[in-house]
Amino acid sequence: MRRAVCPGSFDPITNGHLDIIERASKLYDVVHVAVAINRSKQGMFTVEERIQLIEETTAKYGNIEVEAHTGLLVDFCRDRGIPAIIKGLRAVSDFDYELQMAQMNHGLSGVETLFVPTSPTYSFLSSSLVKEVASYGGDVSHLLPELVNRRLVERIAERKAQADAQADAQGA
Ligand code: ADP
Repeated sequence: MRRAVCPGSFDPITNGHLDIIERASKLYDVVHVAVAINRSKQGMFTVEERIQLIEETTAKYGNIEVEAHTGLLVDFCRDRGIPAIIKGLRAVSDFDYELQMAQMNHGLSGVETLFVPTSPTYSFLSSSLVKEVASYGGDVSHLLPELVNRRLVERIAERKAQADAQADAQGA
């Protein structure tokens, strides 16, 4: 079985992520999606929610396994017999850091990193930009799977209602 991993935060999964995962799914028998757990950073979605959104939006590819991971990605790879990490490269600005990371991971464990050039449609797209634009009421529905867009709009409304209630309580 040829295996590869697509790592990231996926907070939430975007059409840019899906593009890379779909292309990887055609090249490998099994594609693992590793969702990084970052305790120091509070996300828009919990890790469990991110995993659920990824599972639902990638089910159609038929060979995707989604899991959370902490610690070193190379340990995740070793434990599952994964020889390759797939990363999307959006622009030259991604390259510096990704090259360092790829060389470090190769030096640590021999795992290879393969870069897939992002589709030009998504080269400006990141989860953080989508969240920012959506939080100001911008329409990002063309950049996200429909389900993810719906959940994001709901989550932003919940957060806003909480913030308003807090502000009211403090003002009272
Ligand atoms: P990170 O926390 O590593 O920035 P992200 O979830 O934002 O995690 O992205 C994970 C990986 O998904 C990136 O390293 C990149 O390889 C790929 N990726 C993210 N956005 C895009 C995009 N718009 N097009 C193609 N690949 C992308």
